[in-house]
Amino acid sequence: MQDNNQYKESLPKALKKYFGYDQFRGEQQTIIENILNKKNCFVIMPTGAGKSLCYQLPAIISEGVTIVISPLIALMKNQVDQLNGLGVNSNFLNSSLTKSEAKKVREDALTGKLKLLYLAPEALNKEDNITFLKKLNISFVAVDEVHCVSEWGHDFRPEYRRISPLIHKLNPELNIMALTATATEMVQNDIRKNLKLDDAKVFKSSFNRSNLFYEVLPKTNAKKNLVKFIQTRSKPTGIVYCLSRKKVEETAAFLKMNSINAIPYHAGLEQGVRKKNQEDFINDKVDVVVATIAFGMGIDKPNVRFVVHFDAPKSLEGYYQETGRAGRDGRPADCLMFYSYKDVLKLEKLNKDKNQDEREKAKILLEEVSGYAESGHCRTKDLLQYFGEHLEHNCGNCDNCKNPKELFNAQYELAFVLEVMENLGATEIKTAVKEVTERSQIKKIIKGHSAHYWSSIIRQAILEEFIVKNIGTTGLIISGKGKNYILEPYKINLFIEREFPIVNDDEVDSMRDNQELNIHHDLLTELFKIRETLSSKNNIPPYAIFQEESLEEMASSLPTSLTDLTHISGIGEGKAKKFGKQIVEKIKTYVEENNLTSTAGIFVKTSVNKSKKKIKIIQGIDKQLDLEELASSLNMKFFEFLEEMEHIVHSGTVLKIDYFIENFLDDDAVDDLFEYFMEAKTDNFETAKEELQEYYSDEEIKLVHIKFISEVAN
Ligand code: ADP
Ligand code: MG
Repeated sequence: MQDNNQYKESLPKALKKYFGYDQFRGEQQTIIENILNKKNCFVIMPTGAGKSLCYQLPAIISEGVTIVISPLIALMKNQVDQLNGLGVNSNFLNSSLTKSEAKKVREDALTGKLKLLYLAPEALNKEDNITFLKKLNISFVAVDEVHCVSEWGHDFRPEYRRISPLIHKLNPELNIMALTATATEMVQNDIRKNLKLDDAKVFKSSFNRSNLFYEVLPKTNAKKNLVKFIQTRSKPTGIVYCLSRKKVEETAAFLKMNSINAIPYHAGLEQGVRKKNQEDFINDKVDVVVATIAFGMGIDKPNVRFVVHFDAPKSLEGYYQETGRAGRDGRPADCLMFYSYKDVLKLEKLNKDKNQDEREKAKILLEEVSGYAESGHCRTKDLLQYFGEHLEHNCGNCDNCKNPKELFNAQYELAFVLEVMENLGATEIKTAVKEVTERSQIKKIIKGHSAHYWSSIIRQAILEEFIVKNIGTTGLIISGKGKNYILEPYKINLFIEREFPIVNDDEVDSMRDNQELNIHHDLLTELFKIRETLSSKNNIPPYAIFQEESLEEMASSLPTSLTDLTHISGIGEGKAKKFGKQIVEKIKTYVEENNLTSTAGIFVKTSVNKSKKKIKIIQGIDKQLDLEELASSLNMKFFEFLEEMEHIVHSGTVLKIDYFIENFLDDDAVDDLFEYFMEAKTDNFETAKEELQEYYSDEEIKLVHIKFISEVAN
């Protein structure tokens, strides 16, 4: 065996040789030395820190093959491709392979051709795989995403529980390297117990990501606030997480209607579409991906500028992992959560089919989420404390640090809380809040305070360590510091946390719909004139430039910038850029001369007059569904359906329907109709029909008209 000094020389050389890097990052080298010295390792490092290299490099330079257990087929494939690209022979066994492909992989492993063999945890269930693994010369076993072992983790995978017995069967002497990006105390304990890692050396690097700005907003007017949030970023690249597929699609469609270049992503999309959407996001072809949490694991995109949780997350562990995808390049990035307690209740309901024990666990994780969301403390401090890390100072870079709450001397209240809780013994936060609230009713000085008030004080008492978690359970107990405080209370400054209103998340912003237009008619006349000029200059009919409705709205809400202009119905970003300059300048002068204020900036386009059908149509076209089938699935006649599409494009949303038109009409016909619309004087369908019906059906005319509006006018 080599001694450590030799590794000190040889490892950097191997790093350069195989990976091309000049230096190890953080503790990589020590971790690698450890495993080469036949010691178990438990590696906890944030996402993007470089965990893979910790097992890949020792795998390459050790004799035999290294087994890597990894939960996702996509992740395995990605790593295997990268390794093979570096000239390191590796492969995987999982359900995506055919029988003969799997056979070939086994042969390569047996003949010593492979340095790394990736396995899905399911593979451990198969007896013939075990027989096969027994024949291999295995150097060590790496278990990636090891938090999947724990029910307290955010991705529990029961198959992970088989890893330890399997390794024991293969060879009890085999060493394990366990790796994860998130692990609370509780999860760490589970991992240690489950994989028998008591003797493992733990390598834990700080989870603090000082470039991330954490913020929680109440979920009122959430859609509108989401649009505003994205529109006001200097770089609109980001991820918006929603809870359900349905919500993902609705939200993506909603963003699109507001001229945000967004796409949906969830497991229900057809595989080709899903893959393309993911690639488009990675390659900066779209700005925003709206996704379920199925999206993001293992995605290495450095320039994600924000991660928004549009619905509350299921656990803080998951939340931290998901927000960790922002700002990997180390530059500032925003993590925003929209929070309503209703969401938490909804999530709780989703667990109703789980067994009692699982339900309880899920509930406690959810309580941590609402505790975090409602907290008035430094967010970074809260999050790091959740992972067992204590931050000395407040981060100064989160919503709570930027807007500190008013403090008051809570000496009497804290002593009271601690006394009640000491009487109760180990108890959970909910029970504690209930008891304290009830018992305070009979105390003159403090009665009349709400459960929110008391829960606020209890949470701060936890952060200040007057109350601590009873390790291994979910109960709370009074610490030594707390006991002393009961005996000798002193002045202490606490605050009352912000209360978040309980709202339905499907509440719709109805500002636009309720709005009465107050039209400035002299301005409107001017705007019509500009439209005339633009029409003749560009050789496009006036209605294809701006519809009258849009002009009226402009003459009422007075948009003075191109961004504001996109808030007018019928105007997308493309149209604003193409035709908006003169209009905006005219309005600006008008506003200044008459001492008016613009109100255009505060409007957000809602679900195009709230129609669910429209959303369905936009979503269906995104997925390139057959339009006739889509129409009948919506119980609409095809022509009626086309009219609805026409409304959508008229209101500024681009619909890409070439995929459908290609099969519906031949190219010459499309060109012919397109040319007709270019030259038409009016937007009137009847006129078009009269001239064209000899050659084309109503549907054909409509379809090309939609294409025309979408391409030329938007
Ligand atoms: P993790 O699994 O911890 O989330 P990865 O193993 O996927 O992170 O590594 C993230 C990125 O960091 C990869 O692109 C990897 O090539 C790179 N990386 C790892 N170690 C080093 C190093 N020593 N020097 C430079 N880049 C590194
Ligand atoms: Mg990894």
